[in-house]
Amino acid sequence: MAIIFHPRYLDHYQNSYHPESPERLLAINTKLDEERLNREVLTPEPASENDLEKIHTPTHINFIKNVGEGRIDLDTVSHEETFEIALLACGGALLAADNSFFERKPAMGLLRPPGHHAGADYCGGFCYFNNIALAAQHLLDKVKRVAIVDIDVHHGNGTSDIFCKRKDVLYISTHEWGIFPGTGPVNYVGEGEGEGYTVNIPFPSRTGDMSYTLAWEEIIEPILDQFKPEALLMSVGGDAHYMDPLASLTLSSLGYVSLAEKLIRCAKRFCDGRVSFYLEGGYHTGALADIICGIVGKFYDKETPIFFSEVYDLDTLGRETINELKEIQRRYWKL
Ligand SMILES: [Zn+2]
Repeated sequence: MAIIFHPRYLDHYQNSYHPESPERLLAINTKLDEERLNREVLTPEPASENDLEKIHTPTHINFIKNVGEGRIDLDTVSHEETFEIALLACGGALLAADNSFFERKPAMGLLRPPGHHAGADYCGGFCYFNNIALAAQHLLDKVKRVAIVDIDVHHGNGTSDIFCKRKDVLYISTHEWGIFPGTGPVNYVGEGEGEGYTVNIPFPSRTGDMSYTLAWEEIIEPILDQFKPEALLMSVGGDAHYMDPLASLTLSSLGYVSLAEKLIRCAKRFCDGRVSFYLEGGYHTGALADIICGIVGKFYDKETPIFFSEVYDLDTLGRETINELKEIQRRYWKL
């Protein structure tokens, strides 16, 4: 599995007490090294402003380019080097997409800054440009349909807004309901031509492994099966983990690895193994390292040590959400 990483990703910082810190990638890399899983590391070139214009407005690109030192929102700061490193994250996304496409095997983009809260003409929530949306749009030069599955605990409002009126990009998001950014209700299904191609699974607090498994079996896989994407992309945010300090879902490390495995299986079935992963959030460094190494390890048939494997969702707390969503999405899909 190709791992996409650039040393400059470690130079991006918000401020000294911010959870979206370089330590996140350091923890992942340390564990990948310990487990000898850093076998194929690719270093990206920066994306060009022309590339960015595939999904962002020139006004937004110029804003990030010229904002310099300043605060963009309560939690998102800009520094002199932010634009340059954000372009490298976008370049990493393009490389992950290309590598998975041409090599027909999974690629893991260990990117910073993250991207799924950035829309065509806005940013925020620790994001500046939308890495995974750029990768999806880039793949559409080669294929007709791509699907994005976003398992970050926060709704990927940027990704959703960019593609909500399109039928060539299926966007499926599992997220915690009632937290930042407040978007992604169960009854929002996309608009115009894109109606039915947005699938929101907003779970209540404490939902975890059992509900994710049920959602996968009853909603995500059946819809992917019918949509038949030619490439699969996943926004991997480790913040739905029970150890995460920012949110209150209870997915375990093994729960995460199992979701990634299921996606890889789907990719083998209908898109020749073309699947790429893009790091979003995840603020407990141990859990994040567990998750990413677990996923990469599976590719090499290597069991990695998993430290956080408790299952808390024994009552399948998300069942009601899943049933409600099935009723809504039955207008578009056989569920
Ligand atoms: Zn998040």
